Amino acid sequence: MKIAVIGTGYVGLVTGTCFAETGNEVICVDIDKSKVERLSKGEITIYEPGLEKLFLRNLKEERLRFTTNLSEAVKDALLVLLALPTPPGEDGSADLSYILGVAAELGKLIKPGDYKVVIDKSTVPVGTSAKVKNKILETGGKAVEGSFDVVSNPEFLREGIAVEDFMKPDRVVIGTDSARARKVIDDLYAPFVRQGNPVIFMDEPSAELTKYAANSFLATKISFMNEIAILCERFGADVDMVRRGIGSDSRIGKRFLFPGIGYGGSCFPKDVQALVKSANEVDYDFQILNAVMKVNEAQKLHLMPAISKYFNHQLKGMRIAIWGLAFKPNTDDIREAPAFYMIDALLKAGATVCAFDPEAMHNTKAVLKDKIEYGENQYATLKDADALVIATEWNEFRTPDFNKIASNLKNKVIFDGRNLFDLTDMKELGFYYVSVGRETVN
Ligand code: NAD
Repeated sequence: MKIAVIGTGYVGLVTGTCFAETGNEVICVDIDKSKVERLSKGEITIYEPGLEKLFLRNLKEERLRFTTNLSEAVKDALLVLLALPTPPGEDGSADLSYILGVAAELGKLIKPGDYKVVIDKSTVPVGTSAKVKNKILETGGKAVEGSFDVVSNPEFLREGIAVEDFMKPDRVVIGTDSARARKVIDDLYAPFVRQGNPVIFMDEPSAELTKYAANSFLATKISFMNEIAILCERFGADVDMVRRGIGSDSRIGKRFLFPGIGYGGSCFPKDVQALVKSANEVDYDFQILNAVMKVNEAQKLHLMPAISKYFNHQLKGMRIAIWGLAFKPNTDDIREAPAFYMIDALLKAGATVCAFDPEAMHNTKAVLKDKIEYGENQYATLKDADALVIATEWNEFRTPDFNKIASNLKNKVIFDGRNLFDLTDMKELGFYYVSVGRETVN
């Protein structure tokens, strides 16, 4: 099948590459000229495990191409996928200007008598498919009626395991009432669901809401556990025990029960906020999600009181090492990363910061520039630091060389926002160790 993917960020590049991998002819479009140039030359623009190999293979086989020219990409495409940003607008609701802007262009490019399926993969509020359809008709005119369908196909891939998620999705959700579009989509996804995972067809509003409901539910689980962790600290209980105790109940499940310094990324914060705003528009106050956001805001700075107390509320002149900048491991994405909130608070308190992340250094330097120092590796950040703060649970931080940590740090002090280490080990090694929802080792 001939496919145009509009937007080559985390979703678009993975989507385009994976559809090319199953034999489709894919052209990816982006307005960012330098991104298109780099991708066309075989230079991957994001870090995503397993992606580069597929990307290079399909580029070489000429099943995957990149352009800034929307018209060239859409001309022969049966499928036009929208993988465009939907950032929060000023009031927190999803900004649809990217999507509707492209929809307006599509209206001019779809020819009467064509048949194209416009698939919305971006996360968008209920009613967006209808808006996209209207926008296409507005610029295309009555003549293009019947020449296209607009389908909602929310994307559930997780950064860090996006290729695996895309190639073997738990489910594919499709919102459409068009039998013709349904047949095309069935063929498109058949190679990805051979093991029997469902392609769930539904109406468009339900598909659009499913994505927000999924992300909001997961964010709720995280904030709930973060509040349980706070209670653990106050009652002298251990959140790891509580987590295992409840997680073995199959109704609850083991996943998304890890407390920490809050969720971040380009999806959960904006999607929870956007659902609250959508609810307001239909006169509903989504109380649980308001609390989820409030808890998360506070949680990002959960370690600060303990850090401040350790230094007798005198952080001025202290040097703090930070391990982890990406919002989660296995990605270079720093959008809404909790590490940045910690860094900001530490700098405001007068501390200096030296940070390291296995993949997110480039993106961080572009944002923070010389406001902080950067370590060449995880141990180099520790040199002469007064304490180590762990903000992202990268695998390489899980079993570090504690002797190296001890010899580089000025004091054997760790504030762990991701509960990476065993409390008994930390006691034996003689660290002052603060984590989330567990006893402080001192
Ligand atoms: P992104 O910011 O990484 O990528 C968006 C891309 O679109 C950028 O490369 C940008 O240059 C390009 N773009 C902007 N305007 C354009 C235009 N007019 N024409 C062509 N290209 C244009 O965004 P993302 O993380 O890939 O997210 C895209 C959508 O998918 C969002 O709605 C997001 O909520 C949703 N989503 C993201 C994830 C994720 O893990 N990142 C997962 C599921 C769903």
